[in-house]
Amino acid sequence: KMRLVFLVLLCLPVCSAYPLSGAAKQEDSNRDLAQQYLENYYNLKTDVKQFRRKESNLIVKKIRRMQKFLGLAATGKLDSDTLEVMRKPRCGVPDVGHFHTFPGIPKWRKTHLTYRIVNYTPDLPRDAVDSAVEKAVKVWEEVTPLTFSRLYEGEADIMISFAVKEHGDFYPFDGSGHSLAHAYPPGPGLYGDIHFDDDEKWTEDASGTNLFLVAAHELGHSLGLFHSANTEALMYPLYNSFTELVRFRLSQDDVNGIQSLYGPPPASTEEPLVPTISVPSGSGTPAKCDPALSFDAISTLRGEYLFFKDRYFWRRSHWNSEPEFHLISAFWPSLPSYLDAAYEVNSRDTVFIFKGNEFWAIRGNEVKAGYPRGIHTLGFPPNIRKIDAAVSDKEKKKTYFFVEDKYWRFDENSQSMEQGFPRLIADDFPGVEPKVDAVLQAFGFFYFFSGSSQFEFDPNARMVTHILKSNSWLHC
Ligand SMILES: [Zn+2]
Ligand SMILES: [Zn+2]
Repeated sequence: KMRLVFLVLLCLPVCSAYPLSGAAKQEDSNRDLAQQYLENYYNLKTDVKQFRRKESNLIVKKIRRMQKFLGLAATGKLDSDTLEVMRKPRCGVPDVGHFHTFPGIPKWRKTHLTYRIVNYTPDLPRDAVDSAVEKAVKVWEEVTPLTFSRLYEGEADIMISFAVKEHGDFYPFDGSGHSLAHAYPPGPGLYGDIHFDDDEKWTEDASGTNLFLVAAHELGHSLGLFHSANTEALMYPLYNSFTELVRFRLSQDDVNGIQSLYGPPPASTEEPLVPTISVPSGSGTPAKCDPALSFDAISTLRGEYLFFKDRYFWRRSHWNSEPEFHLISAFWPSLPSYLDAAYEVNSRDTVFIFKGNEFWAIRGNEVKAGYPRGIHTLGFPPNIRKIDAAVSDKEKKKTYFFVEDKYWRFDENSQSMEQGFPRLIADDFPGVEPKVDAVLQAFGFFYFFSGSSQFEFDPNARMVTHILKSNSWLHC
């Protein structure tokens, strides 16, 4: 049905321009181009699944959004200008998408970074590649406090490589043209890395695809900048071969962007625009890398992890690997601090939060009406005054509540406490030390947090497989 709507929609502006026999073919290829483009760079597929009823509207909206972003007239139609832009070579990082759903601002938490050129393109002599990358690094070094050094072996923050087609991440390259390169935002492992499509013809001048220009753009992503809608900006997503290479300068838009993350270089007298994500100061602010750090409660929330401590929580997403730090009250003003337990029930898109003999239900950043409720409504006996930790098994639809050395199990399908509980934690989770502060389910394991230690428990083997520091999730 979606395809049909799409076909009708895309047919209108192009049908009349071609003789009938060629028209169908042309219109097909335009439709495919547009569909691919919106899927790759404007998150089309994901959204279509979510808003099935509003499909045709959605596609017009996406086209309009793309036109606006790239500086075209926002007609919502596939006019010739729009199709022309869709055929232009560009950066492979989407213009909207993951960045949009994770409102964190990933950045490096240090000012000295390392990079490594892992392999070379056959198009250029090695020293030409080296100097293009070095020049690209200088572009950003000049306007920030960041310094870079090159590694020749081992793991650098920014690993730079040339690859074709499928190359080990989820973003295969597409042969010559279209997507030229992509880069990951700051973080460990793959994050920060830059991949160049080696099916392009890389050059030192503007005769092919200029390596320096693309490297400088991708480095912007590695440092935490996303695409800019400003056509003058280096971070504009389309490759612009007309840029004067000799007198290349960053636009003010790029400078503002990068300085909002890192501030100006130290010699500069300019004031930093925005120093960093503001963290509430004052006595008793927990430090994520304190070796004695323990947590009050931990939950997932729509694919992210929330680690609660005192009046605060850290929020970690897969995309933004550097955790954010917030006041609980900044997200949910009516929630208490110093929580006891938290868990998410995916099927209900709800996180339940426990403190004392009450619990709350939150959906996104909204606390549901009708809460708090008493914990005894869940089926706990009257002598239970509070619970220590809770986790909901997403597959089995069972929620576990831990209280001192015992645990209860709640059936999410029947919405009732199961018979035969409480049982002893030591009997069913051997090796886990009561009492438990928080529990998290991830990668098929249960992670039990107790003080500054964390027990990774394999439910199939019924044994503890690792003992870790509690704050290992916060990249310490
Ligand atoms: Zn880009
Ligand atoms: Zn890649």
